[in-house]
Amino acid sequence: MLTSDSTLKSAAPVVDGDVTLPIETSMVLAGGTLIELHPPRFAVADVFVRGDRILQVGGAMPESVMRVDVSGCIVTPAFTVAHTHLYMSLTCGMPPPPKPPRTLTDTLQWVWWALDKALDDDLVHTSALVGAAMAAKAGAACIVDLHSSPRAIDGSLDRIESALDEIGVRGILGYETSDRDGRGRRDGGLAENRRFLEKVRKGATKHRALVGAHAMMTLNDDTLDALRELADAQGAGIHMHVAEDLTDALDAERIRKAPLATRLERLGIARKGSVVAHAVQLETKLAEHMMQAGAFLVTNPRSNMDHGVGLCGLTGTRVALGTDGSDHDVLAEARAYYLRHSEAHDDLARETGARVAAGQELSSQLFGDGTPPRIVAGARADLTVLDYTPMTPMTPSNVIEHFARGWTSGHVRDTMVGGSFVLHDRKLVNIDERELVLRARAAAGRLWERMQGYT
Ligand SMILES: [Zn+2]
Repeated sequence: MLTSDSTLKSAAPVVDGDVTLPIETSMVLAGGTLIELHPPRFAVADVFVRGDRILQVGGAMPESVMRVDVSGCIVTPAFTVAHTHLYMSLTCGMPPPPKPPRTLTDTLQWVWWALDKALDDDLVHTSALVGAAMAAKAGAACIVDLHSSPRAIDGSLDRIESALDEIGVRGILGYETSDRDGRGRRDGGLAENRRFLEKVRKGATKHRALVGAHAMMTLNDDTLDALRELADAQGAGIHMHVAEDLTDALDAERIRKAPLATRLERLGIARKGSVVAHAVQLETKLAEHMMQAGAFLVTNPRSNMDHGVGLCGLTGTRVALGTDGSDHDVLAEARAYYLRHSEAHDDLARETGARVAAGQELSSQLFGDGTPPRIVAGARADLTVLDYTPMTPMTPSNVIEHFARGWTSGHVRDTMVGGSFVLHDRKLVNIDERELVLRARAAAGRLWERMQGYT
């Protein structure tokens, strides 16, 4: 059982779930067990949050500050979804494609490229709103999103930004530049990336941006040059899929007449802040070259299983965990990672906590925090509270077992982003959830109907 000698019993007011919390405030999270996953660290201590930062951990807390009771709960650095697609948030339960896909290319053409073509401005916004809500309810404070809506490109990243702000979570945004829908839409994708990167550079948004692109197999050589030039000009990383299956390599050899490594070099994706999704079939030496240059690789085991493309066996402190659309639930992804690598006997299951920590580090670096994503004084106050009472002992030596086999998003009670709760007592703080559900269901119905025109 988790216990605490915290200051919870002091005279200061205790806040329960019925109280509407101010947007930004000072508070003490009192009575919780603080857990960092990698390296595993435990402490029973109160946390004093002021503004967007953790001011103090442990010791005597100021008496006048509001207490939030987290006794019996775990407090941990909030999760980052290191690669996902918010535009897929309305797809659970949608009608299946005309026939079962046999390859990743089938799935792309019959499902995801029918979906993205069906998105209009309103559906882009509603999908992002639903996805951000799902992520916040699953304990995520930051979402690294790669967006595609070829018939609603202009301003799409602003619509996602607006949705993230309505929920209260952070975003690292990019538009999925591709040649698959013709030159005009390729140029539109580049322009949308450039526009939002400029917005970030001017400080006109609190979010961050990367140069977004789809995958090597849908990018012509001159588009690789344009993406590299944009990344150079903006000093930004590149976010895209690489070697999800063998198609990128086969396309390079057979159609582009150049090895995949040569094309990746031309793109210049090996740079600080890049987010390389999947890398299932990426040569280890190429992956290590990218990570040494400052890129993060993001593995998505549930998506890889769904598409039948294999398993990413890369390791290191820059290999993070993404959800690749789906439900934006990092804990569900972590469980899949743990089980899939246990099945593979590749010794990576025990690194499940490191995968989550890498995502938190990615967010910290791109937001320029200056402190690591830990529960220490000076760190950003992005925190998740889980109401998890294990039936067996939980210690630093077995916490990864509990994390991977015990913790679920159903245990997430609170999500704090920059010192403000966006989820408190399992309720979204900034939006009426019942209205969101009604709006989402109506939007999903409209989206699924529109998709029939593109399958
Ligand atoms: Zn993806």
